This record gives sequence, structure tokens and C-alpha cells, in this order.
Amino acid sequence: MSSDLVIVYHRQPYEEVEVDGKIEYRENKSPNGIVPTLKSFFGRVDKGAWVAWKEAVDPERPDFERIIEIDDPHGKYTVSRLPLTKEQVSSFYHVSSKEAFWPILHGFKERYSYDPVDWPTFREVNWAFAEAAAAEAAPGAVVWVHDYNLWLVPGYLRTLRPDVKISFFHHTPFPSADIFNVLPWRKEILESLLACDVVGFHIPRYVNNFVSAARSLLEVEPVKREKVKPEMNAQTSALSEQSVVTELEYEGRSIRLQASPVGVDTGYIQDLARSAETEAKVQEIRAEKGDAKLMLSVGRTDYTKGGIEQLESYERLLETHPELRGKVRLMHVSVAANANMTAYFEIQEQLEAIAGRINGRYGSFEWQPIALISRPVPFRDLVAYYRAADVAWITPLADGMNLVCKEYVTARTDGDGVLVLSEFAGAAVELAAAVPTNPFSHKSMDSAIHFALEMPEEERRGRMKANRMMVEKQDIRYWAEDQMQAFANALARMDVAV
Ligand code: UDP
Repeated sequence: MSSDLVIVYHRQPYEEVEVDGKIEYRENKSPNGIVPTLKSFFGRVDKGAWVAWKEAVDPERPDFERIIEIDDPHGKYTVSRLPLTKEQVSSFYHVSSKEAFWPILHGFKERYSYDPVDWPTFREVNWAFAEAAAAEAAPGAVVWVHDYNLWLVPGYLRTLRPDVKISFFHHTPFPSADIFNVLPWRKEILESLLACDVVGFHIPRYVNNFVSAARSLLEVEPVKREKVKPEMNAQTSALSEQSVVTELEYEGRSIRLQASPVGVDTGYIQDLARSAETEAKVQEIRAEKGDAKLMLSVGRTDYTKGGIEQLESYERLLETHPELRGKVRLMHVSVAANANMTAYFEIQEQLEAIAGRINGRYGSFEWQPIALISRPVPFRDLVAYYRAADVAWITPLADGMNLVCKEYVTARTDGDGVLVLSEFAGAAVELAAAVPTNPFSHKSMDSAIHFALEMPEEERRGRMKANRMMVEKQDIRYWAEDQMQAFANALARMDVAV
């Protein structure tokens, strides 16, 4: 019970490598992504802790040390590893989270599957996370819980440690009441979240959706509503909200709701984009593509990512604009999911079928219209493709934030390039200068990509400049500061209450 900040995140904060029979803990290979940012918070406190799971054959007698001390450039912190069996991990992470919560969070009611969910295991695992966090937290500490697979942790933790401040951040969208209420465990989940001091989301719309879900089931009172911050009020986005509830009251406690869009590490990406190695790779890609315009799409193979809708639109583009044949090329990176799940496997097969059809129908010895890449591209290479691509075509049907579009904009240190972005990506609320597209509409998809390909240089540069300013302003440090501010406010409120 000695840490001022406890981060509860399902993954471990480093890579474990075996060297000469000894385990070494190393920095994650990619300095990109959320984990390094979370660890950077340990530099701001005297003592930090992280709670994650690690697979064990026998959780009663795990063959690893349960608690280890890490000393890395981010600071000194304890990592508490929960021994979970393969079955527990599969049940709580792959089944409950991916078959039930994931489709609901992204608004796909028809993909939701109730039957395979083992709710007692979900509770049990969440309880174990709460217990571990309670054991690490100093009196009055901040415990920061991440994402929907740990939804029940705040409620359990509140009973174990009424003294701590609990903050929860959702890395996904949050759906409206009509969709959220499909979950049979909806009340239990909401009651747990309402045990927090702060509940964070990417954008105001998700906050308002959360409020609608909470009000539909529980006696919650919105006690404060504020105007959306100007930088989040994408004037052109019909989907943006003008104001947002920022405080709720439930059972005599107040809960702060916060919209803070996760950003990217702009300094790191720009350095990479400007490096000699990237420059050489960019020249190589450009030489290979010749005069053709390169369109780039990057994402995971997931029904939420809109890959099929995009390939179908590309097929229509080549059909209706014969003059573009031989003049454009699509590089579609769709990284196959690791879980053996039918839903993802089916998407992969469909992508392969459409890509094969396009290449078969329109390709020639000289020109391959589409390259479908299913294996992960190392981030360094991705940055070179970002720099070389004339258009980034990002079309999720639903996406909490989408970092790829922000990375593309950041990597365009030359100020050129066009971003076509789905209105259903959280990032669309910030990136008002992107070409918006609705992936559920053929008309919108087809006209947006054609418009992007035809866009004159002056307009491209104008839009890119505006988007770059936004991404640079709201980078990952901005998000981190916002979180720190929320913790500070929560702690100040406690002082008043005591
Ligand atoms: N990414 C990567 N290599 C790939 C595909 C993706 O490094 O081949 C990275 C990408 O740069 C981004 C992240 O994976 O940082 C994907 O994040 P995003 O928010 O766009 O989507 P998510 O997968 O979290 O839904």
C-alpha cells in the first residue's frame, strides 16, 4: 500500500525476453502506442504501480514472481502480475470482451453474442484486478483503470478502498442507451463505472451516450453541462455535439465525465518522418509507383474497420472511371487478428476475395490495382508509406479514435497529402479539414475518394496545414496533461469533502 498512482491495464508494460535462461524485462519494441505514455506518468509521482495479467498453468502456484520491481527510463515502479489460466484469459478477454462487449460498443447489435459469455469468470477476473490494485494503492492514491475488459474493477475497488480516487478511461466508443442496454449486465457495469471519480472518453458524443445509458437505468442527475471545447467542436461534422454533461450525481457522490481525445507522439513521428532512412525509403516507394497515385489504408482486420466497404468502393471507382486504371494504386494494410475468431476470419476471406477480383478484373502485367497486406508493417516502414502516399483512405464504420489518421497527418512534414476520413472515427471530431466520408453510403464513399484524388495542390496543402495544427496541438502530451488535471481536480474535491 505505497503507490501514489496505480495503473490497471490488462497488458504488461514491457516485453519479457529470455536471455541465457533468465527473464529480462525490456522496453516495448515500439515506442508508439499508449503503453509508453501511461508509463511516463510514473515520472510524475514518487511511487507507481501497474497491474496486469500473466498466463499461469496453476494460478495457485504460478511459476513466476507475482510482483516485480522495474527501474526504467520512465521511473521506478512495481508490476503486479495476476496469474490467470489460459481458460480465464480466453473467457474474460476473448469471449466476453470480443464477442459481447466489442460489437455493442461499436454499435453492431447483430454481431453481439450472449451465449458464450461466462459472466462469473468475468467478475472473478475483475475482482482479482481490484484486489491487486487495492493492495498497491497508498492511502488517497489515484487508481487509473483502462478499458471495457475491466469494467467491474471500479465498483469492487470502491468497496475495498473507499479512500482512493478512481479514474477510468474508455479507449473505444461508448454507444447510446438503445445499444448499450442490449447487454444483460448493463446495470452492474454502469453502477461500477459510477463508483469512479472520473470517467474519461475520447469525444463528447461518447460522454453524452454514457449519460443517456446511465439515465435510462439509474437515478443519476446531470449536475453540470458545459460547452464543448472549441477545438473539439468540428464545425463541419454533423455528428459533433455542441455541449456535454461534465458532472453526474449518483447516490450522493459526484462523478466527473471528461472527453479527452488520445493523440499521437508528434515529435517522435516527425523525427522518424524526417530521418535519412525514411527519406530513402520514400524515394524507393515513389520510384516504384511512378506516376500512379498511391492510396493507403491501414488498420486491423475487424468488421468495425470498414475494409470491405472500402474495397467495394475502390472497385466501383475503377469501374466508373476507366481513365484512372493504371493511374492509381491502393495499398490496403489489414492486419489479421490473433484471436481465432470466426468473425475476423470471415472478414479476412472477404477482403482477399474482393482484392483478388479487382486485380483479376483490372490488373495487367504492368499494373496491379491493389496490394492487400495482412501482416503487420513495422512502424518505421509505415511512416515511409505515410509520407509517400497521395491519399490516406481511412473508413471505419466505428472507431473510438483512430490513430492511423493522426499518424498520417503528423508524418506529412512536406505539408502535402489528402486525408479521407470516416465521420464515424472519433478523430473526425478534431480533424475538420479531412475529406469526410460516410462508409455506409456508396455515394459518399465514391465521391469522397474521387474528390481526394482530383484535389488541387493548393487545397491539399491548406487542408493538411489545418489538420497538422490540430494534431500537433492535441498530441499525446495534451491528453496526458488533461488526465493529470482530472486527477488533481478529483484529489482537490476529496480534500474539500474530508
Ligand atoms: N500499426 C502498425 N503496423 C501495422 C498496422 C498498424 O504499427 O501494420 C499501428 C498504427 O501505426 C497505429 C496502431 O497500429 O499506431 C493502430 O491504432 P488505431 O487507433 O488506428 O486502431 P486500433 O487498432 O487501436 O483500433
